[in-house]
Amino acid sequence: MTQQAMTSQRPMPEITPMTEPFWSAARRRELVVQRCDGCGTLRFPPEVACYACGSRRAAWTPVSGRATLYSWTAAPPPLLPYFADRAPWPVALVQLAEGPRMFTNLAGIAVEEYAIGMELQAGFEDIDGETTLVVFRRA
Ligand SMILES: [Zn+2]
Repeated sequence: MTQQAMTSQRPMPEITPMTEPFWSAARRRELVVQRCDGCGTLRFPPEVACYACGSRRAAWTPVSGRATLYSWTAAPPPLLPYFADRAPWPVALVQLAEGPRMFTNLAGIAVEEYAIGMELQAGFEDIDGETTLVVFRRA
């Protein structure tokens, strides 16, 4: 593989033991977040301990996928080569109906149409045989 081909490939998420349940669920078309066994607080991204009560026990639980657009930006260059070819690259912060916020991409919505508070629904985008991204579409 040439250097050019390598650098223009999409950067892939780093899947760790802590995040693997999230990625497995995405492959099943399910959105999950961590739920603290101690106090019930839902959290995303995953953490080793609850920031509300300190408990280290948690389980992954499905959420509805309903969300609203909390904030967004469109990143200008300099960017990694994959994104530079697609600049400005929009990045959205959505608030799940259940509370946690998640950085993501909006699919099928032009940047000019982004509006804070717009209603969204989780969707899933297979980017290779093993990785599925959670994206959000207009509800
Ligand atoms: Zn807790």
